[in-house]
Amino acid sequence: MTEPVYWLNGRLVTGTDAGVPLNDHGLLYGDGVFEGIRFYNGRPLRLAAHLDRLESSARALMLKLPSRTELQAGVDAAITAFDQPEGYLRLVVTRGPGGLGLDPTQCEQPNLFIIADRVALAEDAKRRAGLDLITASTRRPGPTVLDPRIKSLNYLNNILARMEAYRAGADEAVLLNERGFVAEGSAENIFVVRNDRLLTPPVSDGALDGITRGIILELCREEGMEAAERSLTLYDIHTADECFLCGTGAEILPVRSVDGRRMKQSPGLLTRRLEGAFHRLVEKETRS
Ligand code: PMP
Repeated sequence: MTEPVYWLNGRLVTGTDAGVPLNDHGLLYGDGVFEGIRFYNGRPLRLAAHLDRLESSARALMLKLPSRTELQAGVDAAITAFDQPEGYLRLVVTRGPGGLGLDPTQCEQPNLFIIADRVALAEDAKRRAGLDLITASTRRPGPTVLDPRIKSLNYLNNILARMEAYRAGADEAVLLNERGFVAEGSAENIFVVRNDRLLTPPVSDGALDGITRGIILELCREEGMEAAERSLTLYDIHTADECFLCGTGAEILPVRSVDGRRMKQSPGLLTRRLEGAFHRLVEKETRS
């Protein structure tokens, strides 16, 4: 079994001697940003898009990021040290150590660390059959509370929704926004297929601007599939022909049921076509 690799502020460390200080505001307040990045064939997929999003999250929080060169060097070093062709990187930038008050201006030195590890996939059987989802009573906060486009270290909202799903015996949760429109899964974006048309909520409905979501919209254009960003209600999900979740860790995960309503197909025809196209894109972009 491959051990995870830990890269901290420019050097490889072990998980136990990593030495992120206990007064780091990332730990005390969830004050920080992160990215989850997959690598295939020893190369990160869409690294530029991930670093762009990290920069936007950091700008929104007025958090000073290390330089792009430093971030890229860390990613390369972590992949090389992990020494496996495929895996998952967790790149984290915290506000850094500071006093016990909230004041972020007292934190002078952000910490950057990267963990490389194997990706925890949904079980193969689940992947084949499709996931069972419930709608969580936990709502995605709107942009007036905390814009879900900021990929911050505060994931409590998502964790509460995931706990609801597990307690109900489901695999994952659908989160609605404050107005009752569908936002996303707890760590994935969501798509439905209705009458051969792919639909996904606009990010302004409370979803992360997912890199995989972006790739899927690109693939739809290339494959001549009709796709649109549109506000969705639970009716749109409950009565869909197909439904899938997508994300860096998840890739494309077919959904079998939502709140006990079975999709007409699972995995659906278009979902499977997109899975094939996604894997071809991964090969094209990461195999040199
Ligand atoms: N929504 C949330 C809340 C997430 O945490 C993730 C995973 N990063 C996604 C969507 C999917 O985004 P991406 O495709 O960029 O991984």
